[in-house]
Amino acid sequence: MSNEVRVRFAPSPTGVLHIGGVRTALYNYLFAKKHGGKFILRIEDTDQTRFVEGAEQYIKDAMAWCGIQIDEGTDQGGEYAPYKQSERKDLYKKYAQQMINEGTAYYAFDTAEELDEMRETLKAAKANSLNYNSITRNTMKNSLTLSAEEVQERLDSGAPYVIRIKVPAKEDIRLNDMIRGWVNVHTSTMDDKVLMKSDGMPTYHLANVVDDYLMKITHVIRGEEWLPSAPLHVLLYRYLGWEASMPQFAHLPLLLKPDGNGKLSKREAAKHGFPIFPMEWKITEEDAALKGFKEEGYLSEAFVNFLALLGWNPGTENEIFSLEELIEAFTIERVSKAGAKFDIDKAIWFNQQYLRKMSPSALASLLIEQTKAAGIACDNNKAIAIAELLQERIDYTPELLSKGKYFFESPTEYVDKVVRKKWNETAEAVFNTFSTEIVDQSLQADDFQKKLEQAVEAHDTKVGMVMQILRVAITGEAGGPDLMKIMEVLGTNEVADRIKKATNAFEQTANNE
Ligand code: GLU
Repeated sequence: MSNEVRVRFAPSPTGVLHIGGVRTALYNYLFAKKHGGKFILRIEDTDQTRFVEGAEQYIKDAMAWCGIQIDEGTDQGGEYAPYKQSERKDLYKKYAQQMINEGTAYYAFDTAEELDEMRETLKAAKANSLNYNSITRNTMKNSLTLSAEEVQERLDSGAPYVIRIKVPAKEDIRLNDMIRGWVNVHTSTMDDKVLMKSDGMPTYHLANVVDDYLMKITHVIRGEEWLPSAPLHVLLYRYLGWEASMPQFAHLPLLLKPDGNGKLSKREAAKHGFPIFPMEWKITEEDAALKGFKEEGYLSEAFVNFLALLGWNPGTENEIFSLEELIEAFTIERVSKAGAKFDIDKAIWFNQQYLRKMSPSALASLLIEQTKAAGIACDNNKAIAIAELLQERIDYTPELLSKGKYFFESPTEYVDKVVRKKWNETAEAVFNTFSTEIVDQSLQADDFQKKLEQAVEAHDTKVGMVMQILRVAITGEAGGPDLMKIMEVLGTNEVADRIKKATNAFEQTANNE
């Protein structure tokens, strides 16, 4: 099919994939699936100096966690394999050579010192730009200024060289961005960018364009930081004779700090303690302290939903979208030009919504995983009961265990304020009667309620007078879900034991006063 939509996510494995990268992948995926097209993962690893072990696997794990399915890629293979640029080196060379032959690119032999010198001279002359361009190239050592023999000699002698694109002197390069509309750039502001480096590797610009063309990419959807490179890419398509099959470009808005002042950064995340990576990244020390949404206890569906709305709006009031619904609703036209403010409270809100919607048995499975990891026994029935009680009270999945720890262990600390205020002889008498009456029985929440009512009546008081101190005795905490239901989960003898233990502890507090 010649008009099949084909998009690619083309990360460089130079470190952790942060949230902006995941959003780029997600928008590409949504766009592809909306149009019945293909989503391709291409690994752009031509910069060997910045290669980080583990980064490629992390990218794949992040995609998998988000539910983004890759149609073609390094693991899936595909018609246009290989999908890793370091395995495609010879291809790029061929096209760079073609451009040299046709006069749209040239060899440059300048050393780093000579390039520095050029910039210094330009600076001293207060030049508008420090670019290697149609003016400055004439003063440098390249195949446009040296004689053919001299160039050949240098090449034969193995002298280091790069290949640069020959940007025309005075021309407007135009491109119609799907999000930003027409973008015009005058070539006098452009640089004769390096296409092939002295190590024989292509730069991003050449490899990216060659691969997008060969892989029949129809739409390039990527971050705004690549917009300044787009005119150069347009020129490359023209020079390589591929203008007719140039993809459409869509440059996504930046993710901004929560206050909207500047780009979202790792520093900002560290300062406010919010996650910025899809998952933890322990490989580089600098990033190890930063948090991942997954480990923080965000459901992947909530994370994806949150991410989709960071820069795109559905045009309706509805905010809750499953991945399938996002595919259905997504359009590039509704991606905003303006930067999107990162709001962690919104992420938490989405997580709450998804947690509330989950079935108790699915939540129970999460709890069972957590108890297993902590070496705590918990059968399925107990897990479901706990999940039902905590479902409305948690913001993150690990809170099933952390907020429900009293379901698994008797408290060792009690909210002091309540003890001081509510512990008295009557409460003690009610505790005694209540625990004697429940022991060795099998009771439901309603039965516990009745037993408690009988006990307070026997001591001439009211349920309201002892309820909170009883809760503290059983859970250690001043608030929480229905206490009768908690007691049902714990069972009568455990409740009786806890009452006894708490009575002793409360007495001690009272005696120490
Ligand atoms: N390798 C580039 C990156 O790491 C890809 C940019 C693009 O999508 O063209 O972001």
